[in-house]
Amino acid sequence: MIQVGSNKLQKLPPYLFAEIDRRVQEAKKRGVDIIDLGIGDPDLPSPDVVVKEMQSACADSSTHRYPSYAGMFEFCKACADHLAKKLGINLEPNSQILTLIGAKEGIFHLPLALVNEGDVVLIPDPGYPVYFSSTIFAGGEPYFMPLNSVNGFLPDLSAIPSDVARRAKLMFINYPNNPTTACASFGFFNDVVKFAQDFDLIIAHDAPYLETGFDGYQAPSILQAKGSLERTIEFHSLSKTFNMTGWRIGFVAGSSEVIAALGKIKTHADSGVFEAVQRAGITALRSGMDHAEWSKNIYRKRRDIAVQGLAQIGINVQPPKATFYIWFPLPVSAASSTQFALDVLEKAGVVITPGVGFGANGEGYCRMALTVSEERLKEVFTRLKNADLA
Ligand SMILES: *Cc1c(COP(=O)(O)O)cnc(C)c1O
Repeated sequence: MIQVGSNKLQKLPPYLFAEIDRRVQEAKKRGVDIIDLGIGDPDLPSPDVVVKEMQSACADSSTHRYPSYAGMFEFCKACADHLAKKLGINLEPNSQILTLIGAKEGIFHLPLALVNEGDVVLIPDPGYPVYFSSTIFAGGEPYFMPLNSVNGFLPDLSAIPSDVARRAKLMFINYPNNPTTACASFGFFNDVVKFAQDFDLIIAHDAPYLETGFDGYQAPSILQAKGSLERTIEFHSLSKTFNMTGWRIGFVAGSSEVIAALGKIKTHADSGVFEAVQRAGITALRSGMDHAEWSKNIYRKRRDIAVQGLAQIGINVQPPKATFYIWFPLPVSAASSTQFALDVLEKAGVVITPGVGFGANGEGYCRMALTVSEERLKEVFTRLKNADLA
């Protein structure tokens, strides 16, 4: 057999969700009625207006050719208008916005644009796995910033050794946070921007849940912080806001220098987003907010069911202010997050994600995604109550 896999590839663990998916397939083959709260993929539909726009854009042959690398001006303009209207951030669409094939694509390519061999990249732990893998592929050295409940799941900037901070080129942060559901205050973003100035590094704020706040809560953007536009970018996604994960469209906003560097990588890596999808994206940004509100109301009801359901099995969590996840501490009897998730799969047929899958510091927690109907979610807690997990 031939040996396949570069040194960098071998440094990566199997992608977390791919491994869970394999186990679920096995259980399904055994005939188990699986309820999957594993993956952060909305079950609700994309907005009708977006689907209709896509249909007519597909029928228009002018969309069938290579798109421009940076994205259609009209899409970037719709992004800029959206940020201005929602958050009061004024950006120039040509230089301060770039269309992405989903936020994940931009996150993956960013370290390639910014990081030299051996440069440190500051990464939250637990965190979205792509911050780590993109750092490895760029030859960077990951330094994990632990997120703990005592710090409200915000990194403690003062705990980063200054020699590490001086060697760092890039810091990833993500609020509202996946997996912990924590939200950052505007004051925290000010501290992060100051830290970036002091240590001469770039901040990448991954913000796909910025518009998922409940009960009128609007999470702040780091681009609202004074002086942020020089060395900060923010990843936005249409995936979570508009239930459009399958469409693969997002954008990055902020520092024109960083965006130009990322854009240069992209001219080598891909050829942009299908223009019909960009036209659908414009419709989402300009006319999809009512649909987004409708979705959030559904997630809020599910959140309340989950918080109550967990309380009934002795697990107490604060209702999250945003995102469609619940991040909860394990019962004291659980040996580890992986063991607990496997027990829940075996005994209740429910898929949840072990916290350790998001980083060593996620141990002691599991995450559930609220991406099933209320009825199925209630069934989850009936099963958990009967499952004898203690
Ligand atoms: C879902 C998610 C993304 C990816 O969003 P896409 O735009 O679909 O690529 C990025 N970061 C986090 C933290 C996410 O949860």
